[in-house]
Amino acid sequence: MQRVTILGSTGSIGISTLDVLQRHPDKYRVYALAANKSVDGLFEQCQQFKPAVAVMLCPESAAQLEEKLRNAGLAIKVQSGMQALEMISSTEETDVVVAAIVGAAGLLPTLAAAKAGKRILLANKEALVMSGALLMSEVQANNAVLLPVDSEHNAIWQCMPVGDTQQYHYENKGIRRIILTASGGPFRDWNIADLEDVTPEQAVAHPNWSMGQKISVDSATMMNKGLEVIEAHWLFGMSSDKIEVVLHRQSIIHSMVDYVDGSVLAQMGNPDMRTPIANTLAWPERIDSGVEALDLVKAGRLDFAAADFERFPCLALAYQALKAGGTSTAILNAANEVAVEAFLNRQIKFTDIARIIAEVLEIIPSTAADSLEQILSADEMARKVAHQQMQVLCNH
Ligand code: NAD
Ligand code: MG
Repeated sequence: MQRVTILGSTGSIGISTLDVLQRHPDKYRVYALAANKSVDGLFEQCQQFKPAVAVMLCPESAAQLEEKLRNAGLAIKVQSGMQALEMISSTEETDVVVAAIVGAAGLLPTLAAAKAGKRILLANKEALVMSGALLMSEVQANNAVLLPVDSEHNAIWQCMPVGDTQQYHYENKGIRRIILTASGGPFRDWNIADLEDVTPEQAVAHPNWSMGQKISVDSATMMNKGLEVIEAHWLFGMSSDKIEVVLHRQSIIHSMVDYVDGSVLAQMGNPDMRTPIANTLAWPERIDSGVEALDLVKAGRLDFAAADFERFPCLALAYQALKAGGTSTAILNAANEVAVEAFLNRQIKFTDIARIIAEVLEIIPSTAADSLEQILSADEMARKVAHQQMQVLCNH
């Protein structure tokens, strides 16, 4: 019986994870559930899955949850704060940690899970973008097992040489390049000039995937693919010139590995995150995920096109930050988080997101990213400068 902690259980990935777990009560038990402040969502999950511990980041929300659980006669321990998130990720009481918090907030509990040598199902790509070198070295030093839930990385991992699944270094394994597929998001066919006037509602309406708000905006700017290029660099030990992006509007091929002998291996399936979640939960075995069988005849065709850096400047910025190295990717990530939130709050235009990130990268010098302190201080500075740049834009 595997005991599972889900960080971000009320989100899109969290809900999909619970859907897979409830199909296999003989194999998995929920140890802890954690969310930011959605009391009702976490309460309902507690009623159904009866974890030992429930954590809310926000103390007021935790107090409300505790009262609801008490009234319902449920003996579930409720805690709050970042330390509690780290505790449920590292305790002896859990075997598997699903890292599905969105953004930088997921970094510390994911690091705690790595230090405790857990099996980590990583959805929270921002943690790796911020602190790739540090997180990967903690994973290796503590014999943790880091498995990619992000559909592209899960696809690549499934297409990698057999037996090397826990090496994290594939540069010399006969691989020419990794090909990340991207749907291109909702604006792939728009006139570039019209992107200035995009609304948050239009940006979060993804054509193929149903996801949280932040990653939906990231998909619309293609910063999501940029973050994924950085994520692939750390997960597979490949340099940026061996990681390519190709547009594939149907989202049936989730990514590919191109070998030097000319073989290109692809992983396919319906666009449903329960597939990579089930794959990483059960690896090296396979379990039912509830995902419908792929109907290739119905899908009909698979289209490919080049990724367009003019339409998607965020993708170019991510490559630029990866090449610069050090704290650049943490700076990129923080500036993006600030800009996306401001766009969702209608404070800036869609096209300002890339402008702000470019400015922040320009202003803040990159330094070494060997320690958590260096990373967190770069993150903090980038958020401050991003807010300043937003002021400058708003005053024009
Ligand atoms: P979401 O917004 O739907 O859910 C986020 C979850 O994290 C919620 O449970 C929320 O309560 C919790 N949370 C947010 N801030 C928190 C904080 N400060 N402390 C504690 N909990 C907090 O997001 P999502 O779409 O499920 O994405 C989660 C992560 O998975 C992101 O990093 C995203 O990039 C990645 N991811 C998502 C998908 C997808 O299909 N949704 C695919 C690949 C990768
Ligand atoms: Mg993805």
